[in-house]
Amino acid sequence: MTDTPFVPAPRASSPVAPDASCVLLKHGEVFLKGRNRHRFVDRLHDNLRIALRGIGGSTWIKIAQNVTVLGGQVPQEALVERARRVIGFNSVEPAVRVPSTLEEITQAAVRALRDVSTERPGRGFAVRVRRRDKQFPLTSSRMAGHVGARVLEAVPDLHVDLTRPDIVLAIEIDRKETYLSWTRRPGLSGLPVGASGRALVLLSGGYDSPVSAHRAMRRGLACDFVHFSGAPYTNPASVYKAYALARELNRYQPPGRLHVIALGKAQKQLAVAGAGRLQVVAQRRLMVRTSSALAARTGAQALVTGDSLGQVASQTLANLVAVDEAADLPILRPLIGWEKQEIIDEARSIGTADVSVLPDEDCCQLLAPPRASTRAELPHLRAVEKRLDLDEVTEALLGNVQVMLPGEDGEAAPPPTPACPTPEPA
Ligand code: ATP
Ligand code: MG
Repeated sequence: MTDTPFVPAPRASSPVAPDASCVLLKHGEVFLKGRNRHRFVDRLHDNLRIALRGIGGSTWIKIAQNVTVLGGQVPQEALVERARRVIGFNSVEPAVRVPSTLEEITQAAVRALRDVSTERPGRGFAVRVRRRDKQFPLTSSRMAGHVGARVLEAVPDLHVDLTRPDIVLAIEIDRKETYLSWTRRPGLSGLPVGASGRALVLLSGGYDSPVSAHRAMRRGLACDFVHFSGAPYTNPASVYKAYALARELNRYQPPGRLHVIALGKAQKQLAVAGAGRLQVVAQRRLMVRTSSALAARTGAQALVTGDSLGQVASQTLANLVAVDEAADLPILRPLIGWEKQEIIDEARSIGTADVSVLPDEDCCQLLAPPRASTRAELPHLRAVEKRLDLDEVTEALLGNVQVMLPGEDGEAAPPPTPACPTPEPA
């Protein structure tokens, strides 16, 4: 077969400025969603718009098949940073866009690879072309060959390597515009936040619950948070931590609210009622009972905790089952099979570890027995709870909830006013 020289057909001129920078966002699991797909994609774009609030310049979003193009009057790196926190994109690729003509595309490719080769000379490259517009006069493979040859001519420092290239130049040809990208940053993948409903996360100050919240978000749950402090018997450090954690987590979702509940007095009531070695499990039951009632106000369909099976005494199977019994809603435990080190590594990568490591006075340490029971005895727990008027206790707890919205719009939010600044002796 002879390879006839190609003469590009004249195409309508496009309004796109040459080399306008933009960002390509490749869709993750939403593209498996069949008939419901538009619902997921709409949600993904709503979340993206919310994540772009306060970025400091105008932005635009263009929606194509399985890819979203993002651009605007802001530095490309700022767009990449924001987009990488939006759950539901598999990859985030800084790109340039040019009109879909052979010459514009080729020149942009040469410019891009010349810049790359100045930074990293002597590298192997490959050109991968995807033609979404089948009207484009060259097939994908011929276009790749054409661009590759022109790059080789213009940038002799590079060589072609189709099997293990150091640089992959991706060219995606749409009808009017073509996108060229050569760096690919991983996105968070998963389902768009909100696509699976709402949940209420029990957020302590440790490593586990923030990671668990993040995992829940990645499966499409929009999360509100509840933190139980030991007030009035503990200092407010745990509240500050919960606030900072919720703020960090809110950068991955349309901001959720943080509810802070002072549990100290109720903890003392449980101790006085004779909880003994079951004190921690009794407290946990009270937390989920109260959280279930709170969920009715926040519209949550499930609770989320950071439990990991067997990690500590309160997380044995028997104790988890005893806690489940007290909840009116399903308790989701995304970290049930995770090791502590995996959790800490993930906390580092999502940015919550720096807060979790700070010291605090966790309400669970307050009144904790020297040896906690690993086998909750339900009759004993029920007997202890019977000595209290649980409805009254829960009502009192919910009557004094402090509600905050950490980090809305990416702006600095006011720090929380602690429920009780000066701890009383327990
Ligand atoms: P974490 O790192 O989340 O504190 P942990 O290993 O310390 O976890 P526990 O203290 O046993 O675990 O708590 C198990 C789960 O119960 C937590 O992950 C969290 O979801 C919930 N929880 C515990 N304490 C509180 C609290 N003070 N406020 C809200 N939720 C809590
Ligand atoms: Mg804890």
